[in-house]
Amino acid sequence: MIIFFNLSGLGMMGASVGAGFAATHLLNLPDETPAFYFAAGSVALIADGLVRSQSDSGHWLSPTGGGHFLFIPVWVFGLLWLLIGGARAIMGERSAVVDGVIVAGVVIAILGVGIYRASQTDSELAAGGSTGAAEWECPKCSRWNAGNFRFCKHCQTEKVG
Ligand SMILES: [Zn+2]
Repeated sequence: MIIFFNLSGLGMMGASVGAGFAATHLLNLPDETPAFYFAAGSVALIADGLVRSQSDSGHWLSPTGGGHFLFIPVWVFGLLWLLIGGARAIMGERSAVVDGVIVAGVVIAILGVGIYRASQTDSELAAGGSTGAAEWECPKCSRWNAGNFRFCKHCQTEKVG
C-alpha cells in the first residue's frame, strides 16, 4: 500500500516551510525572498539526510527510505529550494524563468536516475535467470527482488507470503 506522502515526510515539509517563514519574519523580510528558500531548503536537506543515513535501508532515492511527499524524497525539495534561493539571491526575486529551469533540471535528473535504476534491475534479473515467479517488493527496504529469491538480496528480509 503506497500513499502519496509519509508522516516523516509531512513533518519535514512542515518544519521546513515553518523554518522558512520563521527566517523571513525574524529578518523582517517579505516571504518568497532568498532567506525563505535557504532556511526551508537547509532544514529539508538536513532532516531527510539524517533520517536516510540512520535508516537501515539507507536509500537516498527510495520514497520510503526517508521522508517523502508526492513520492518525491524530501531532500529533493530541499535541494530545489536552495537552488531557487541561490538563483533569486543572484538574479533578483523576479526570476520565474530561472525557477522553471531549475525545477525542470532537477526533474530530468531524477527521471534519469530512475530510468537508470530500472534498467539495472532488468539486467540483474536477466543475469539471475527468471523462473517466471513474480517479482516481490521487500517489506523492509522496498527494493524489488526476483521471484526466485526467498530473502531480499539487499537486507536479507524474508519474502512475505
Ligand atoms: Zn530488503
